[in-house]
Amino acid sequence: MNTLATYDEAIERTLYTAEDIARAIGRLAAEIARDHAGQPLLLLGVLKGALYVAVDLARAIARVPGGPSEIFVDYVCASSYGNATRSSGEVRILKDTSMPVAGQNVVIVEDIVDNGLTLQYLQALLRGRNPAHLRSCVLFNKPYHRLVDVPIEYVGLRSPDEFVVGYGLDYQELFRNLPYLAQLRAQVFSQEG
Ligand code: 5GP
Repeated sequence: MNTLATYDEAIERTLYTAEDIARAIGRLAAEIARDHAGQPLLLLGVLKGALYVAVDLARAIARVPGGPSEIFVDYVCASSYGNATRSSGEVRILKDTSMPVAGQNVVIVEDIVDNGLTLQYLQALLRGRNPAHLRSCVLFNKPYHRLVDVPIEYVGLRSPDEFVVGYGLDYQELFRNLPYLAQLRAQVFSQEG
């Protein structure tokens, strides 16, 4: 990526603007708040990708009148093995939850789901800890190459069948801080190596 001096030069196109994403988060927050009205809720963000989604969602849920009685926010830091642009579903937990999951109404918050193996692994792991309810929320859905039929109760926006970056999603740890979702220029990948 050395010859691409700026982020702007590396980006092919914007897929969803910051405003599109904020609207989707607002819609997800309303759905989650409605399903947990008067009950405690544990939002469990999956880092690093869901860094921004989890925080923005937690604040948006708190603004919904008549939502959960209490909102707890926790996170796991997970890393999927695979190549630069595809996960293998073999997940390494780099940081586990710090709150007990047993008896809680848990919503896993993921950035993006592609083949579904990462979310399937996390659901199995958490289900084994006996939550009262376990649901999943995904901001960007890539339904084109699913290998497993993983239940997702809350879906934000459809991602194109491309490797995307921004709003928490990286390419080799870069681009997470873009406030929008973008597709990278093919040139970025061809300079690997
Ligand atoms: P899955 O196991 O469902 O194929 O992939 C889930 C994980 O792979 C996501 O949490 C994310 O870390 C990564 N991933 C999948 N698609 C993309 C993508 O288009 N861009 C980025 N940056 N990461 C992706």
